[in-house]
Amino acid sequence: MSQASTEEFDLVIVGTGSGNSIPGPEFEEWKIAIVEKGVFGGTCLNVGCIPSKMFVYAADVAETIRKAGAYGIDAEMKSVDWAAVRDRVFGRIDPIVEGGESYRLSDECPNVTVCKGEGRFVGPRTLEVTDLQGTTRQISGRHVVLGAGARPFIPPHPGLENIEFHTSDTVMRLDELPRRMLIFGGGYIAAELGHVFSAFGTEVTMVNRGERLLKHEDEDVSQRFTQLMTDRFDVRCASEVTGVFQDGNTIRTEILRNGVAETIETDVVLVATGRVPNGDLLGLEEAGVSSEDGRVLVDEFFRTDAPGVWAFGDLSNTHQLKHLANAEVRALRHNLLVAEGESEGPMRTVDERFVPHAVFGHPQVASVGLTERTARESGVPIKVATKEYGATAYGWAMEDSESFCKLIADAESRQLLGAHIIGPQASTLIQQLIQGMEFGQTVEELASKQFYIHPALTELIENALLDL
Ligand SMILES: Cc1cc2nc3c(=O)[nH]c(=O)nc-3n(C[C@H](O)[C@H](O)[C@H](O)COP(=O)(O)OP(=O)(O)OC[C@H]3O[C@@H](n4cnc5c(N)ncnc54)[C@H](O)[C@@H]3O)c2cc1C
Repeated sequence: MSQASTEEFDLVIVGTGSGNSIPGPEFEEWKIAIVEKGVFGGTCLNVGCIPSKMFVYAADVAETIRKAGAYGIDAEMKSVDWAAVRDRVFGRIDPIVEGGESYRLSDECPNVTVCKGEGRFVGPRTLEVTDLQGTTRQISGRHVVLGAGARPFIPPHPGLENIEFHTSDTVMRLDELPRRMLIFGGGYIAAELGHVFSAFGTEVTMVNRGERLLKHEDEDVSQRFTQLMTDRFDVRCASEVTGVFQDGNTIRTEILRNGVAETIETDVVLVATGRVPNGDLLGLEEAGVSSEDGRVLVDEFFRTDAPGVWAFGDLSNTHQLKHLANAEVRALRHNLLVAEGESEGPMRTVDERFVPHAVFGHPQVASVGLTERTARESGVPIKVATKEYGATAYGWAMEDSESFCKLIADAESRQLLGAHIIGPQASTLIQQLIQGMEFGQTVEELASKQFYIHPALTELIENALLDL
């Protein structure tokens, strides 16, 4: 059934990830439509950052028990109750998701209309929304904000289309813990979920096209990570997938590793080969919105080249990170108000010079700024320092012999250009360095103009800074 009339809104938001935080008290006079084709709350809450980290935490506990012998503790990991692990995660998340949707539907948000369905442009600032029953409604906004995110990239492996495979969207809700899992990919999602399933006892095989896992990290980090994962489970790098076949209950995958044919048998396949922005599914051409390979192009204020159409987050960004999507939405909210003359200008942008990220694998990896290679290529004279956790007192306490922090500084200005940590609590340890870089502190200021608690793990950072 199709509805010919167009409902007019002041603001149409496509996607309820970070986009759901736009409506607030400042917008209470605005008539707003929120369009969502999937579950409320977007990737981070439902199938991304939050559930994956809740699984990772449980996996870290399992690994801690396995390694307890190193500290003279006789502990044994007997079994993992997958249903309990999974239900702890979604028992917390699902009610939050439902609560988020109910709130938007309730009398507390009288100016917000929730349109459940897939939005697609049919004209400038006008979308058709099709729900699961095929019913359509047409809506238009004086402003349209696109926060439609990204989806898993499915590689063209021959035969993959004929088997039932999982992505990060589905694998965390498996009914049972698989005995064997094959993961395609070697990026952060493969690393985190590989850690999770391996820690719980699944035999994990990882097939990766490149020579190293986490190939975008600093080479030393990526090399160390690859070596540690190879010690832990079956990692097959430099591999090309030549065929995937269902054979009864078994999935058979044929690969060429360094040119040599190998076969892998598994129960479950997880495709984790990156994520592509959803711009190709939005009918952008109908609205005059420019994009590149599905990524919507925006200016520094999050405006597309179509007047009144804005975009942010995984849909328009080259870094697909929740903290960036959130920061962009905060600026974009302000810019909408400025565009309507309801707030003082100027419009805001987001300083993306030092966007950090972390991989919550085992070990963790965290990074900000330039890698050694990119720093050298920039032509700036640099100094590099690498400090092992094992060279600090806390590292001794942890019996750590594999983790390190690597810092890269501008040899003349003495400012940090990049920081890379692989090891326990990397995602927390790096925060001080992000702050130092953001606020322009020199290596000396960071190292010597504050106390470092002894013998905390932060002495790793102090010692690395002192080596620069
Ligand atoms: C497994 C995993 C782990 C992750 N871990 C981290 C992490 O640790 N740290 C981190 O910073 N980032 C992490 N991320 C990335 C993070 O989740 C994203 O960067 C972030 O959620 C992007 O937010 P967004 O608002 O741009 O898009 P999303 O949250 O993806 O929201 C987009 C919404 O738009 C909806 N939508 C799409 N198209 C349409 C349409 N045509 N009509 C209607 N609705 C539509 C979608 O259903 C979705 O709800 C992870 C991602 C995954 C998959």
